[in-house]
Amino acid sequence: MTNTLFDALFTPLSGRETALLILADGREITGDAFLRLVSRQAHALRVAGVLPGDRVAVQVAKSPEALAVYAATVGLGAVFLPLNTAYTPEEVEYFLGNATPRVFLCDPVRQAALAPVAARNGARLITLGATGGGELAELAAGQPDSFAPVARGAGDLAAILYTSGTTGRSKGAMLSHGNLLSNAQVLADLWHFTKDDVLLHALPIFHTHGLFVASNISLLTGGAMIFLPGFDADQVIGLLPRATAMMGVPTFYTRLLDDARFDRALTGHMRLFVSGSAPLLAETHREFEARTSHRILERYGMTETNMNTSNPYAGDRRAGTVGQPLPGVELRLMGEAGAVASGEVGVIEVRGPNVFQGYWQMPEKTREELRENGWFITGDLGTLDSDGYVTIVGRAKDLIISGGFNIYPKEVEMLLDELPGVLESAVIGLPHPDFGEAVFAVLTPQKGVILDTQAVLAGLRDRLARFKQPKAAIVLADLPRNTMGKVQKNLLRAEYAGWFK
Ligand code: ATP
Ligand code: MG
Repeated sequence: MTNTLFDALFTPLSGRETALLILADGREITGDAFLRLVSRQAHALRVAGVLPGDRVAVQVAKSPEALAVYAATVGLGAVFLPLNTAYTPEEVEYFLGNATPRVFLCDPVRQAALAPVAARNGARLITLGATGGGELAELAAGQPDSFAPVARGAGDLAAILYTSGTTGRSKGAMLSHGNLLSNAQVLADLWHFTKDDVLLHALPIFHTHGLFVASNISLLTGGAMIFLPGFDADQVIGLLPRATAMMGVPTFYTRLLDDARFDRALTGHMRLFVSGSAPLLAETHREFEARTSHRILERYGMTETNMNTSNPYAGDRRAGTVGQPLPGVELRLMGEAGAVASGEVGVIEVRGPNVFQGYWQMPEKTREELRENGWFITGDLGTLDSDGYVTIVGRAKDLIISGGFNIYPKEVEMLLDELPGVLESAVIGLPHPDFGEAVFAVLTPQKGVILDTQAVLAGLRDRLARFKQPKAAIVLADLPRNTMGKVQKNLLRAEYAGWFK
């Protein structure tokens, strides 16, 4: 019997006596030991009532046991549904209500708060602690060390992954075995991953980046992962000498650059640094290269599609671009009247084996964003240059229309970020009685600088058409970001909605 994803990622671990996971405390888990853990868990979950097609929701700390639950769920022919550990019980209520999982795994310390939520939504609650303890471990102890995966094909669901909720309520993206495997194969090949790679893995595993891009590629190619519970600069710097590759969100790289120990000597042996999930500032890209001689490889993707574009491994990794469409992925830029001319801004649409099966329990949303002919409307705006490199301009929802003119926040942000004393900026549109929306800038200062907003805005005067210039600006210590490092412009818009009224 075949199980498309399980057979590609996990079955090959059988008998492997080399480390699959290297943990922060130095402990190593071999491929074979991991697969035996997966088997015991799969039996335990089956005893708990999990049937093929059931959802298994998890909100647990990152650990080898948590990764094993992903494998066990896929092996049972069930649907893995990881949730951000930062979600409150109220937020979890929405996800459990929407996804109606058979089982919900949570941390023992949150059991009291989450038990009523699970009960109301018909899910059996089972605990799994940050260090692997809890009810799941008890249920799994003594279960057989091997199991026969349930038959599943490329079109069957392997996971429902909820979007990050940056632009609104999170939607559950239904991802099939084929969606996940095809993308992992393409990326592993493009980025030259082999069994000799040791991937420094400090990303969360409730998100597509850490779960699918990082873990799936490493599992598929038979490499090892330095599997860290989260990003800690000291830990990463300490373990980097054992790694060959690292994947991160842009904040990982800015935090490493803030540390003087992060230098050429520390990174000389590394093969690859990948960035994604949020825009990497061109400045960070250049600073990284100046410090380490490595050019970060930026790629672009999302929950619904896994990865769509990547800068090349061997060719020109262009700062500020997300590279070219992946092999097998079609990409086009659409305006109101169809495809836009080369160099013009359009909404990015993608089609390929990576594109999801639709939003769980949201047929209308699915119809709005996934065309019948397979094109997915990403909601991101971008441009395409003559070499096929895509540049992300921002999200369609963040586009500002002021006095009838379109303003792309990124254009303004890039100029602001270059001004003296400005570390980073977020430009948003706020309701305005005359203009409909007015441009508003949120600035963060470089270390030790006290910003004068008027002086900053004056710095744009000759560089930008008047209608694009912010009508007001404020300074914050940090921009609000979600756990994936994404700037939450909807929070800023809500916070300052009354500014011009
Ligand atoms: P929601 O869809 O719920 O509003 P979200 O879109 O932030 O949340 P994700 O699927 O986690 O949820 O994120 C995908 C988005 O992240 C992309 O649509 C894009 O806007 C952004 N993104 C990903 N990689 C990059 C990148 N390299 N550069 C710029 N933006 C990126
Ligand atoms: Mg999205």
